[in-house]
Amino acid sequence: QRIGYAIVGLGHLALEEVLPAFGACKKSKVVALVSGDKKKALIVAKQYGVSEKNIYDYENFDSIKNNKQVDVVYIILPNGQHAEFTIRAAKAGKHVLCEKPMANSVAECEQMIKACEEANRKLMIAYRVQYEPNNTEIKKLVREQKYGKVTNIVSVNSQNIGDPKQWRLNKKLAGGGSLPDVGIYCLNTIRFLTGEEPTEVYAQISTDTSDPRFKEVEDMVNFQLTFPGGVRAMCSTSYSQHQSRNYRVYAERAFFGMDPAFSYGGLQMYRSFADEDAEIYETPKRMPKNQFALEMDHLADCIRQNKKPYTPGEEGLQDMKIIEAIYLSARQNKPVSLEKLEGKDLFR
Ligand code: NAD
Repeated sequence: QRIGYAIVGLGHLALEEVLPAFGACKKSKVVALVSGDKKKALIVAKQYGVSEKNIYDYENFDSIKNNKQVDVVYIILPNGQHAEFTIRAAKAGKHVLCEKPMANSVAECEQMIKACEEANRKLMIAYRVQYEPNNTEIKKLVREQKYGKVTNIVSVNSQNIGDPKQWRLNKKLAGGGSLPDVGIYCLNTIRFLTGEEPTEVYAQISTDTSDPRFKEVEDMVNFQLTFPGGVRAMCSTSYSQHQSRNYRVYAERAFFGMDPAFSYGGLQMYRSFADEDAEIYETPKRMPKNQFALEMDHLADCIRQNKKPYTPGEEGLQDMKIIEAIYLSARQNKPVSLEKLEGKDLFR
């Protein structure tokens, strides 16, 4: 019996990636939809064989409590609504898969974790990169020091954002600009690769406030992270650059990375190292896997086996603490210490 998912929010990610991904799932199925647009929901329900009685709107969502077919609520709404719907889902007795960024603040993340704990329900944050086989292979190269000690990781995740009226440029709905939306991939992936928590951040923000897109949120954020094992990272994220989604790891005897690293498909790993008298540059090919299917089936396994998800609420909270420190560092124009950031042995 597959785990039943209710999808909350039928926007781009839900329609173009998550719903089609159920076709690649082995342990998960879509059984309910939650949308403010009944007409759209009816069309989507028909397309995916969801019963009309399993369509909810944002007002009657809480009655999902009585629907035994729904095990998990997958929240794919603007960031500012993640906390409210996670808490409502937990109160309705459902497990939660919540999109990144987990919420708009540390305080909201803590409330979400508490609500799921009190309801004894799983809470997982949808960090799909951590379930993707190429990135997992690079994690092994870093942690096992296959090419010697890693000293530096450089990562860029940028895109050129369009319509100034979209929710991503609205502070209340988005929480911030490029940093919580796409810069979070650099941060979360580097924490994943190293398995360590940064002890210090140093950041600068550059925003052209005469650009109508950046009245409320930031454009470019450059930030450095210092890790206790000696790794340093340089990250850059922007909303006004052609899309660029990559990272490179510098080790004693090689450099290796992914380009693109954070896209939905077409991910490419590469590595360069010396072998006797030849410089080798390789681009190993792995069979593409659907990252959304991998993460949904992971949560299904966790529910069946009563395990904690690999990317639980605490993982989203940790990123949010660092994001708040990055903003603070940029405001103060000096490094911010994260020594007090607990969680080294939090989840792995
Ligand atoms: P979107 O704008 O395409 O969809 C958002 C949905 O929320 C729409 O159906 C919209 O109608 C609904 N909504 C409800 N209340 C709203 C309000 N007050 N204002 C605006 N929309 C409202 O956005 P998206 O790109 O699908 O992003 C949704 C979430 O998914 C975000 O948290 C985003 O960070 C995350 N996301 C994750 C990935 C990933 O790869 N994991 C990729 C894209 C987006």
